[in-house]
Amino acid sequence: MEFIDLQAQYRMMRPAIDQAIQEVLDSSRYINGPQVQALEQALAAFVGSGMHAVGFSSGTDALLAILMAKGIGPGDEVITTPFTFIATAETIALTGAKPVFVDVEPDTLNLDPNRIAAAITERTRAIMPVSLFGQCADLEAINRVAEAHGLWVLEDGCQSFGAERHGKRSCGLTLTAATSFFPAKPLGCYGDGGMAFSMDPELSARIRVIRDHGQVALYQHARLGINGRLDTIQAAILLAKLPHFVQEIEARQQVAARYGERLAGKVRIPQIRSENLSVFAQYTVRVAERERVRAAMAQAGIPTAVHYPIPLHHQGVFADLGYAREAFPHATLAAQEVISLPMHPYLTADQQDLVADALLRAL
Ligand SMILES: *Cc1c(COP(=O)(O)O)cnc(C)c1O
Repeated sequence: MEFIDLQAQYRMMRPAIDQAIQEVLDSSRYINGPQVQALEQALAAFVGSGMHAVGFSSGTDALLAILMAKGIGPGDEVITTPFTFIATAETIALTGAKPVFVDVEPDTLNLDPNRIAAAITERTRAIMPVSLFGQCADLEAINRVAEAHGLWVLEDGCQSFGAERHGKRSCGLTLTAATSFFPAKPLGCYGDGGMAFSMDPELSARIRVIRDHGQVALYQHARLGINGRLDTIQAAILLAKLPHFVQEIEARQQVAARYGERLAGKVRIPQIRSENLSVFAQYTVRVAERERVRAAMAQAGIPTAVHYPIPLHHQGVFADLGYAREAFPHATLAAQEVISLPMHPYLTADQQDLVADALLRAL
């Protein structure tokens, strides 16, 4: 059994994907081919009307370019969660700014909006919530805190593309957002890729300039930038996959519901708020004695993963931030208990039974 079965998806979409790649090869427009702009327009419309999108070489580069476009740098603080993939806080630190952690909600494991105000200082510039495992953070509450303190919000939607909150889509709910097309993400390409979203067309234009070495006209570099371009081949693959994406999100709901039927009451299953539609980038449950459970499941041939074993305030790279080990108890406990089960749109009921049986036996 695969943790995420990318082959099953490729088999299903193969003619369209192969043709899309072939078209790029035939055109040789590997950099900034027309598929990149077509994808930007399609995904901007997908997340919400009036949104602007810029394709990137990864989710990490999209996050970094947004922070750079907003002028975040040394002396600034950006509030984020300690329970996320390293890239979230890494991009803040790369600008020279300081990541400031705020603990998560114990049920959703997303940034707790009620704890943010206490962490705001006169250096705070922005709030960077993560929509973890495919479920949006409480972005309205976070937007309200930001507005009250003159800050802006960047949703790290690298796991939540396609998710909804009150019927509106992730990456369209905040001034800025970024997502990732890493192959294992809900909408994945065949390599690295990402996209930056913004409600503000001028900001989006700045993000676009930063993506291409700060270049405003050929060999005229007005500001500091990066090489953050999205490959044409990856954009073409994503355009071929996009028509299936809504169906895949629906299939993810069914897979999650089946896990819920087997596992509710026996382990702590994902807690999805009623206003949210999760894309279940991960189906992550919580157990005591995680390592023993994982080993027993591995014995039974069931792959599992841990997202994430170490909260960011325990990571060596952030030791100089000076956080106590006991800080952020909800994030720290989650890091000890979480275990992600195989999850993808093509997981069969029989496969899910094998996973559930192995998990329940291991308990
Ligand atoms: C995957 C991920 C990223 C980074 O995306 P890449 O495309 O791999 O650079 C950032 N934040 C979160 C929460 C992620 O899961």
